[in-house]
Amino acid sequence: MKFGFLKHSLVDYPGEVCAVVFIPGCNFHCPYCHNQNLEADAKQNGWTLGQIEAYLHDARRLLTGVCISGGEPTLQPAVLTQLIEHFKALNLKIKLDTNGSRSEVLKSVIPDVDYVAMDLKTSPKRYLKLAHPNEAPSLLTNLHASVRFLLQRHPVTYEFRTTLSPFWADEDALHDTGRMINEESRWYLQRCRGEAEPQNAFERLEEEHRLQRAVDIAKSYSKHVFLRR
Ligand code: SF4
Repeated sequence: MKFGFLKHSLVDYPGEVCAVVFIPGCNFHCPYCHNQNLEADAKQNGWTLGQIEAYLHDARRLLTGVCISGGEPTLQPAVLTQLIEHFKALNLKIKLDTNGSRSEVLKSVIPDVDYVAMDLKTSPKRYLKLAHPNEAPSLLTNLHASVRFLLQRHPVTYEFRTTLSPFWADEDALHDTGRMINEESRWYLQRCRGEAEPQNAFERLEEEHRLQRAVDIAKSYSKHVFLRR
């Protein structure tokens, strides 16, 4: 199997200098996704686990962690577990990015994961529209179970994050999302790239106003709200 791989990043793991491994394959079709071509790209230009390990071994003085992202890493539990084992052996901290759709896999790997970033994409009542139809029977149960599970952990070991799509994360969706978490949760709001970009000063001002409004709403649910631009 081949993976997408980024040799180093300062933005994918808070407080750490990390490499990022992308496991291809996702059960969602978010319109703003940056990794839609990941599967084809990984097949053509991807890295094998052996190549990644060799690089990490050489770079281990520069790197402090690895972010395992996707796609959706929890769709392939055996691959995910294998990556975690290999990266732990290199003494690197491990962050997992997940959309929360496989709560049992999340629970099973968590003892070996140092930090989890879970997406909260939209209101629960609209979630099914973002996912593959096969997910319908269990998606919301899994989503809520993943959130509940993370809320029981120490707040510094996880974050929730919401991409501020004007459509999927509008004010109603932010309120519904806020009601899922608690005030100690770290909630990162990230600017949406990929949907319509502001074209002029007026649109930029409007965008700024929208982002600030999103932060204000989020702050009514969490004491730890951050905006990633
Ligand atoms: S869950 Fe993540 S990887 Fe999957 S489609 Fe959405 S943004 Fe892309």
